[in-house]
Amino acid sequence: TLARETREFQAETKQLLDLMVHSIYTNREIFLRELISNASDAIDKLRFEALTNHDLAQEDSNYEIFIRPDEATHTFTISDNGMGMTYDEVIDNIGTIAKSGTRAFLEKLKEKESATDNELIGQFGVGFYSAFMVAEKVTLITRAPGQSKGVKWESTGDGTYTIEEVEKDKRGTAITLTLSEEFHTSDHPEENFLNLYTLQNLVKKYSDYIRYPIKMTFIKEEKPLDADGNVMEDAPATRTEEVRTLNSMTPLWTRNKNEIKQEEYYQFYKNLFHDWDDPMEIIHSKVEGAVEYTTLLFIPSRAPFDFYDREASTGVQLYSKHVFVMDNCKDLLPEYLRFVRGLVDSPDFSLNISRELLQHSKQLKLIGKNLEKSILKTLENTLSKDRAKYEKFWQEFGKAIKIGVYTDFSSRDKLKDLLLFPSSNASDGLTTLDEYIKRMPENQKVIYYATGKDRATAERLPQMELLREKGLEVLYLLDRVDEFAIDALGEYKEKKFQSVSRGDLNLDDIGAAEEKKDTEAIYKENESLIKAIKEHLNGKIADVKISNRLKSSAVCLVSGDNGISLSMEQILAEMNN
Ligand code: ADP
Ligand code: MG
Repeated sequence: TLARETREFQAETKQLLDLMVHSIYTNREIFLRELISNASDAIDKLRFEALTNHDLAQEDSNYEIFIRPDEATHTFTISDNGMGMTYDEVIDNIGTIAKSGTRAFLEKLKEKESATDNELIGQFGVGFYSAFMVAEKVTLITRAPGQSKGVKWESTGDGTYTIEEVEKDKRGTAITLTLSEEFHTSDHPEENFLNLYTLQNLVKKYSDYIRYPIKMTFIKEEKPLDADGNVMEDAPATRTEEVRTLNSMTPLWTRNKNEIKQEEYYQFYKNLFHDWDDPMEIIHSKVEGAVEYTTLLFIPSRAPFDFYDREASTGVQLYSKHVFVMDNCKDLLPEYLRFVRGLVDSPDFSLNISRELLQHSKQLKLIGKNLEKSILKTLENTLSKDRAKYEKFWQEFGKAIKIGVYTDFSSRDKLKDLLLFPSSNASDGLTTLDEYIKRMPENQKVIYYATGKDRATAERLPQMELLREKGLEVLYLLDRVDEFAIDALGEYKEKKFQSVSRGDLNLDDIGAAEEKKDTEAIYKENESLIKAIKEHLNGKIADVKISNRLKSSAVCLVSGDNGISLSMEQILAEMNN
């Protein structure tokens, strides 16, 4: 038996704990949701393993989660008969911050300096450590199947924890919180975590759809009735214990759409995907045909802050007959739609099919095609019916769509009408390509765009002057992925894209007529000057030309017709650094 030893938390874990204990004052009740979701995950894991290793479940296959508040010791215990943890797993999973999400969360906090941003907590679901928001001591006792000993882990959240081997007869994990005083003496019942009804409400609120029963013992004190059915006031009360299941366990998506309240969808989403905000769109549908499935998808209203680093957990879960199979099932969504969260539940997949095989399943790909279609349809609808909402979406996820345009050849065409750009037409609004085209003068042959790090930079480009004077609208590509997307499209409704800083703009016969300058003659007059400039900048530029695209500026830099563009050049230069 391994004797008790004291270990230090990682520096980062210390920081996180410190934060939990000292800086977060609202929504502390979510600790319960976090612990329940871990318990449920642990049972999921066991169930999944048991499909191929039948011995695992034999010992105890009545999967359940039990909550036991105890007034006498001011403790609250939540136990499960899931996968448990070995000694090493406890050290790895509980003592360190292995999860990139949690690490990223800390980074973000450091950036923000104030450690009080509760919204961040919601975005990350900091999980197990949230227990320290309400507890002065946390004790975890766990045993993995096949292990002869259990493991006890304990900490007061002060920087160290103890770990030792102990006896534990049942497989699974029990976590005991010794509640801080305010959470068992509180005058507000909703902050008293020993109150059975508080606990019951929290389970209903956050964890109703958990697939395993969450049970708690209620104690009824009753005086006996006399022969007439009246309460015998003088008789001693009898205590009867009644174990109740607190959650309904009906997976939301299996219920009839018309009977589900919006608030239920919202809670379900926030609960399952650890988001603080309500989702922007909900897609719930049941499909029968070549493949049979139910899908419940959400478009979040905000991108996780680390979304574009590819760190954030994303994607769609796969269930088979209501049983969880896998997270972030790649074939269900094209990469560029990975911001969509949700699930697909299909009876067409056998549970013990290997994940490798699953990844190559034709049915899965077919479902994926359908999901893509309905997500894009939803976005198109939002764009046409609620522009403000769509622009908000665009702020958060527009970049993903633009990346889709240049990385996903097969989807490019479907995405072009979803693109938005700032333009010289409106001072802060965004335009679709179609709107741009509709405003074009009849003889305009191309779609003009200018690149820059922000709107002001693009507006100040010397080349903009002439276009402005001619009343021609210019798209502003301010995001570094914009130009890649535009290049990938090449054209929109047979109008090619034309950078204002590339080659000749051929503006002569468009827009307001103006006096045509004889560049030829000017060139002749200034031949020696041009020669001198060329010699001076030898090797740095390809050519010097007389231009009629300038108004008040003396010179401007342009890219050649074929070379790479200036902004691309900048991106490449940055990448090489
Ligand atoms: P997450 O659930 O997102 O992985 P948590 O901080 O909630 O992060 O939990 C950290 C890890 O601790 C889990 O991934 C899991 O490995 C382990 N763990 C927590 N609770 C349990 C439990 N009840 N049973 C088994 N393992 C658990
Ligand atoms: Mg968790």
